[in-house]
Formats: sequence, C-alpha cells, structure tokens
Amino acid sequence: MQTETFRFIQGAIISFSILSFPSSVLAADSVVVYSARKEHLIKPAFDQFTKETGVAVTYITDGEAPLMAKLKAEGPRSPADVFMTVDAGNLWHAAHEGLLQPVESKVLQDNVPAHLRDPKNQWFGLSVRARTIAYNPKKVKPAELVGYEDLAGAQWKGRLCLRTSKKVYNQSLVAMMMADLGAEKTEAIVKSWVGNLATKVFPDDTAVLKAIDSGACDVGIVNTYYFGALQKENPSVNVSLFWPDQKGKGVHVNISGAGVAKHAKNHAGAIKLLEWLSSPSAQKLFADVNLEYPVNPKVEPAAQVKAWGTFKQNPLNVVRAGEMQAVAIKLMDRAGYQ
Ligand code: FE
Repeated sequence: MQTETFRFIQGAIISFSILSFPSSVLAADSVVVYSARKEHLIKPAFDQFTKETGVAVTYITDGEAPLMAKLKAEGPRSPADVFMTVDAGNLWHAAHEGLLQPVESKVLQDNVPAHLRDPKNQWFGLSVRARTIAYNPKKVKPAELVGYEDLAGAQWKGRLCLRTSKKVYNQSLVAMMMADLGAEKTEAIVKSWVGNLATKVFPDDTAVLKAIDSGACDVGIVNTYYFGALQKENPSVNVSLFWPDQKGKGVHVNISGAGVAKHAKNHAGAIKLLEWLSSPSAQKLFADVNLEYPVNPKVEPAAQVKAWGTFKQNPLNVVRAGEMQAVAIKLMDRAGYQ
C-alpha cells in the first residue's frame, strides 16, 4: 500500500514536471514517451535516437496500469506522444481503451513481421520475447520434451513449476493456446498442469528458474531473457532451454512494443521514433540490453542469445493474446491455476 502511494506521488511529481516544462522543451524537436519499460532498458536507445536525429526524448516510467490510467485521465491534454510497454495483452488494452491511434508507415510494415503488430496498426512490436520450456539437464533429457501441452502428461506429476496466472505473460500464453487448440482442450491442459505442480506457483520467472536449478522441480515455462540474466550471473546454472512444438505451432512469442498516443502533440516525431526503433541499428541496442530477440528479422540477436539456437515461432498474431485475455483468465480460474 505504501509503495503504491509512493509510486502515485512519484508519478504525480514526474508528470507535474513534464506538464510544467516550458513549451520550447516540448516543441516539435521533442518526443514524450510514457514507458512501462524500465529506464535502463530504454535510455540507451533514446540517447542514440537523439544523437542521430537531433530529436530529444522526454520520458516517464511507471507500471502499465498507472500509465494507462494517466493517459485516460489526461485525455486531449496529455503530453504523451508514445506509449510503450511489454506484452501484446497490455498493448491491446491500450488500443481497446482508445489511448492509441493507427499509424500508416511503410517502414514499420517492412521492419515488423505481420504477426507481431496490431492488424489495425495501433501498436507495433519492437522486441520479441520467447516464452519457452526450461528444464534441469541433470534430471530431464530434451528428448522427453515436446510442447506446452505435453507438460500436462502424467510423467510430469510433481515435477512442473509455474509462475502465477496473475501475470499477463501466462494469460497471453493461455489465450494463444485457446486460439490454437480451442477452449475445451486448453482447459484440460491447464488443469493437468496444475495437477503436475511440484510446488505452489511462483511470483516471477526467476524464481521458477532457481527452483529448476536447485532441483525443487524439473521443468517450467519462462521467458528466455530471465534465463539469460541468470546464466550471466552463473554460467554453470543447472537449467537449459527447450524450444517447444517445433513440429507443430512453434514457440509462444510475445513482444515489447509501442504505439502513438491518441492525443500526440508531436505526431511526426512519434512515428519517427517508432520507425527508428525498428531499424537494424536501433534493434540491436533495444533487444540486446535485456537479452531479447530483435523484432526485425534482418537483425541477429546478441551472441549469448544466439547460442541458445534458432526456433520456429508460432505465427499466430499476438493480438489474440489481448482479444482472448478475459476468457483465458476465467479458464485458468476454473482450472484452479492460481
Ligand atoms: Fe519480464
């Protein structure tokens, strides 16, 4: 509660300082970004953008929910030109709430694969986040693994670890599974996942990975960049990645991304920033800082990420993660996934 209050006060102070900037600072040579991505993940790219284009970037960072509430409350007076966050589920919400506007950009269409951007062009993926299977190589042979749905099998009883269903990453995963497999089959799978849990659900992906490393469980589902961070800390960690469903639909991918704010004052600058972020040189900077995958297929991931091997992505448009989020949450609830 105190943290929430603090965050609110902090947000209010930051927003006050933006709103009280002299108009010259918010002129056409500045873009204002509301970012749910943390400062250390966006600043290197924004600094480079300013260096290359002369356009300044002013930003505030906060959770996606407070930022969306802020955009909504500010309405046409909002200084925001760009809204940036992770997970297609969140971007879909922003568009659904009328906080974004469509953008016609050949550059973005060319640089961002069709399944990783909004079909109505209100948001665009800027990095790819693969949610895959992690396992303890001392306890599991990769040949025993197939796909997400196979983790429902009886051979994984008491061996599976999962992050909470309250996290949007798992809501998106289940929503996309529903889109691919149908509600009935997905519910049976999720129910069996719950039945296979080694321990109660974890608050974050890193805790899942550490439980696999320590032997508390043998297998789990995580975003690869958390594995990357852990591997950097401890290169001999007892965790390996497995690419599920390579003969089927492919790995569940999600995005971090952004859209132009509905009431953007610097519309041209906002598009310029998004286009630049999707360009090859910026993609390295933007994806590598968090060990994610570039969204632009012409760009290679960081060496550490590349070493995990290549994989087939599920080609289903990530917009389904948002469209089906509400039904996915209800399904997980019925299945007893906490
Ligand atoms: Fe994350």
